[in-house]
Amino acid sequence: MSEKFQAVVIGGGPGGYVCAIRLAQLGLKTACIESRGSLGGTCLNVGCIPSKSLLNLSEEFHKVKSLASKGIEVGEVKLNLDKMMKSKDKAVTVLTKGVEFLLKKNKVTYFKGHGSFKSKNEILIKDDKNKEIIIPNRKNSYCNRISSSFITRNRNR
Ligand SMILES: Cc1cc2nc3c(=O)[nH]c(=O)nc-3n(C[C@H](O)[C@H](O)[C@H](O)COP(=O)(O)OP(=O)(O)OC[C@H]3O[C@@H](n4cnc5c(N)ncnc54)[C@H](O)[C@@H]3O)c2cc1C
Repeated sequence: MSEKFQAVVIGGGPGGYVCAIRLAQLGLKTACIESRGSLGGTCLNVGCIPSKSLLNLSEEFHKVKSLASKGIEVGEVKLNLDKMMKSKDKAVTVLTKGVEFLLKKNKVTYFKGHGSFKSKNEILIKDDKNKEIIIPNRKNSYCNRISSSFITRNRNR
């Protein structure tokens, strides 16, 4: 792996992917590393979005069940948890793929794997098959912590 980046963001959650897109928009050659297998972090994959999807569906179920007392009779209302979970999964997939599209559109290179610093100027990515990719940075790079994501940015563009 000989490709060099001016900015590398470890973590593709709301902190990381937004940061990576902005860095690319500002003209830096940027990469984003995410170990989860899909972008969007806790929020899109297991937090905000899935919880709100299930909350909304639960509320709709409750509303339909209480319609009879208001004079609207719809017969027996049953909850199909499998279908509910599939609907939630669909919302998550659409949004995580949407983030992937945004990275691509903004020319951010997306690496799937676990990122760590091999040295001050090298970042190691280990994928799920334990394959290793090393991203070398030029000398004089520095690190900033933003949200739960780490950035290494090159001073000499
Ligand atoms: C159930 C639940 C509901 C929530 N609801 C809301 C809500 O309604 N509104 C709201 O504003 N917030 C909500 N949140 C909080 C929200 O999810 C977080 O604030 C947000 O995800 C934080 O974003 P982040 O990018 O800082 O971190 P994360 O979303 O945690 O993203 C960090 C990413 O970095 C990856 N990562 C970490 N280390 C490495 C590494 N070394 N290499 C590669 N990848 C790495 C992780 O896999 C992860 O995907 C909720 C959280 C939960 C758990």
